[in-house]
Amino acid sequence: MSTRLLIDHRLGAVSQETAPSVAGSGAGPVVVRHPEKAHRPDNPILRKPDWIRVKAPNSPVYHETQKLMREHRLVTVCEEAACPNIGECWSQRHATMMIMGEICTRACSFCNVRTGQPLALDADEPNRVADAVAKLGLRHVVITSVDRDDLADGGARHFARVIAALRLASPNTTIEILTPDFLRKRGALEIVVEARPDVFNHNLETVPRLYPTIRPGARYYQSMRLLDTVKQLDASIFTKSGLMVGLGEQRLEILQVMDDFRIADVDFLTLGQYLQPSVKHAAVDRFVTPDEFADYAAMARAKGFLQVSATPLTRSSYHADEDFAALRAARALQNTRSANTAPASA
Ligand code: SF4
Repeated sequence: MSTRLLIDHRLGAVSQETAPSVAGSGAGPVVVRHPEKAHRPDNPILRKPDWIRVKAPNSPVYHETQKLMREHRLVTVCEEAACPNIGECWSQRHATMMIMGEICTRACSFCNVRTGQPLALDADEPNRVADAVAKLGLRHVVITSVDRDDLADGGARHFARVIAALRLASPNTTIEILTPDFLRKRGALEIVVEARPDVFNHNLETVPRLYPTIRPGARYYQSMRLLDTVKQLDASIFTKSGLMVGLGEQRLEILQVMDDFRIADVDFLTLGQYLQPSVKHAAVDRFVTPDEFADYAAMARAKGFLQVSATPLTRSSYHADEDFAALRAARALQNTRSANTAPASA
């Protein structure tokens, strides 16, 4: 049987994708990163086109960011998801922290985060996140998490504690959260919304037809309703969502999801190319060209999103700082226009 190895840079350990034959080989501790995917047939990884290439991460600020994350014992989605933008983002101190551990209770076929039984919540984590963000000096921070179906509130209170700690330590930093779907967690969303993040982001990831294979533990309608409910609970919070393309979706399906987002009053759409983390993950169907991304962006703007980011390397938190400034400016302009066109009261 062939054995495929992944090097886990964060842990400095070897992760094994298929056979357990490495155990006992003297290669050191073996961490099986995706045991739930081990039985799947291999999907060959396609060669990336020129427009996907990124620079190797090696600037001094990159290493400072990495050191700070280690010192504060924080997990980042940048590393866990093997994000291609890490060199650029961390060189600007833009790290996206992933709270509530590094083990997820879901097993989405596109995602590089480990699946399994998570550890208990760390009560000190909100303070460490807040301290790290203050040291990074961020104007805008993005906080995400693994899915915690094992917790009664899905981790909603922990999100609220992190937001409160950030407000205390960095009152001028705007806060964007990228949450799970809180499926079957009654009352969880209300707890997070009451903590008043500036941006509530929840990714739909793909078109509804592909949910059974790409996001089997999630429900399209639940995710869309989550975003809709945020607006109903507090219309001042910006809502944001993203899709990956290149998973086998059709253009018309993407346009249909855009329309659904607009019905839910979602403000900000992100669209990026899906990249396959390993041979055991969902296959890339094709690489969407930069021209097609530009077409999607134009369609989205025409449909009324306040802000759109659609490029091959777009990720939820990529350029989130500048994009939040643009988002806020777009809303201010929209409010001014509405005020100018409102009928004068008698
Ligand atoms: S795009 Fe987001 S996840 Fe990727 S490196 Fe940048 S901040 Fe991290």
